[in-house]
Amino acid sequence: MSEAIILIKKGDPAEKPMLYACPKCGQAHSPKIYACREEEAHEAARRAAEECYNCRTHGECQTCGKQTNKGWLKCSECREADKLQKATVVEPSALGYCFGADGEYYNSPDDAAEAGNAYAFDSEFTPFSLNFDSIVESILDDHHEDASESDLIGVDFLKATIEAFNKAQKHGSYFEDASKVAYFPKVEVEE
Ligand SMILES: [Zn+2]
Ligand SMILES: [Zn+2]
Repeated sequence: MSEAIILIKKGDPAEKPMLYACPKCGQAHSPKIYACREEEAHEAARRAAEECYNCRTHGECQTCGKQTNKGWLKCSECREADKLQKATVVEPSALGYCFGADGEYYNSPDDAAEAGNAYAFDSEFTPFSLNFDSIVESILDDHHEDASESDLIGVDFLKATIEAFNKAQKHGSYFEDASKVAYFPKVEVEE
């Protein structure tokens, strides 16, 4: 890690640091944004410049400190551990369609176990549907700013039709529902 560039007001005989900038991209940080003692604020701004978020290629997991993708607060293992901790543990037989520890979709918990997953999360079915609000929004979007739902004729009919259409849908997609998890007994491998 290279040191922050310290910006000083031109001609200041005391050469008092004003800003701290990233040595790579030049992003500047002001101590003024930190609500603490001046000394600490300067230290915080210097650190922010040296640990420049722009220039960072990876992050650090908040829990275990392991290198993780930039943008994530935690590494994938710790995120998975959090997910498991929050989930209610159920018997494998309580699951139908499910998502294995590998994130893949399975037709049954047996399939998930056979594929080598140690556990599987429940699934949630979302049928195909039209969203009334976004349809009205898309109608109005191309018109003048003041256009509103009240300008439309037949809105009630449209709403009732969409509701009937949505109700009639039988197909859709299964998504992971991480509120429930089932652990599979370890499979004994015969030698
Ligand atoms: Zn930078
Ligand atoms: Zn971690």
